Amino acid sequence: MNKRDYYEVLGVSKNASEAEIKSAFRKLAKKYHPDVSKEPDAEEKFKEAQEAYAVLSDSTKRSQYDQFGHAAFQNGAGGAGGFDFSDFDFSDIFSDLFGSSFNFGSSRRSSNRARRGNDTLMHINLTFEEAAFGCKKDIKLDIYEECPECNGKGGHGQSTCPTCHGSGIETVEQRTMFGMFQSRTTCHTCSGSGYTFDSKCSKCRGTGKVKVNKTIEVKVPAGVDTGNRLRLAGKGEAGTNGGPNGDVYLEFTVKEHKLFEREEDDIYLLLPITITEAVLGCKKDVPTLYGNVKLTIPAGSSPNDKHRLKGKGIENVSTHRKGDMYVVLDVHIPKKLSKEQKKLFESLAKTKLDDDNEFKKIKEYL
Ligand SMILES: [Zn+2]
Ligand SMILES: [Zn+2]
Repeated sequence: MNKRDYYEVLGVSKNASEAEIKSAFRKLAKKYHPDVSKEPDAEEKFKEAQEAYAVLSDSTKRSQYDQFGHAAFQNGAGGAGGFDFSDFDFSDIFSDLFGSSFNFGSSRRSSNRARRGNDTLMHINLTFEEAAFGCKKDIKLDIYEECPECNGKGGHGQSTCPTCHGSGIETVEQRTMFGMFQSRTTCHTCSGSGYTFDSKCSKCRGTGKVKVNKTIEVKVPAGVDTGNRLRLAGKGEAGTNGGPNGDVYLEFTVKEHKLFEREEDDIYLLLPITITEAVLGCKKDVPTLYGNVKLTIPAGSSPNDKHRLKGKGIENVSTHRKGDMYVVLDVHIPKKLSKEQKKLFESLAKTKLDDDNEFKKIKEYL
């Protein structure tokens, strides 16, 4: 048996650092991975590199190897195998080399693992008022429920697993020159559940879950805004091997209002008034989310003057405190005047209107 030295396989020195070993293996894995490599002896080279890396990347195994060489990991029977790396987790290296969707070949372990179902995202449109006050929405969803046929077990005629006797764990014994080693893995017969069935449930095909299309009523809290999400726990895709279901996220899009503009929890309303209303002052009926209010606009108001209506904004979705509403004056300067109006403005112009400081500043500059 002419086994190559592990350091030689990876092309690193005896005192190589962990990082050097990892990077050397990454290079070889990229070059020789049987699914990507065109080299004729790729598979053999790849396995050799995997074995070397599995030993040298583990400080305990590395020091055993440094002391005893390949003999450290040879099985009693025949001693041909070398280090058994079938349970070694290479996924971190392979996933950054080939992407996380890459199948790592030894999928025995991962296929049995309990997996949470995927989350799903649904878009929900709300009117301005629905978002402000909260509402109830009927939402159609595919929900994964416990299979009624087998009560979620996945099969009929349950009995204790003959391989692991109900523990769900399989113990594999391995003889090395240091004695017997036991490694524990998930039972391959029952995938770790501890029991087997006489027959698989035909309704759920052994998954224990069935898909049901249901309409559920969802309470949308007051104050949500565009982009906010609401989580419906466990209403997502089914988990596998006993894993929990994923969640459903409802993402809201709030429609624009004809009058109101929302900024966080505050509301803005642009209120058109005439030039005389601005000059002389007036009282105006103003719509708010909570009914009309009478607003007094003082004489001498300017365009874009803001009037705050405290607590007439939107309730904050988490603190429940209400924002404010701001009425912004939009003073309309008339584009067309009747003869009479023109005369009135002209006689107004003859009076001295421009005596404040701003006008003086400009005049000094001329
Ligand atoms: Zn078992
Ligand atoms: Zn079933």
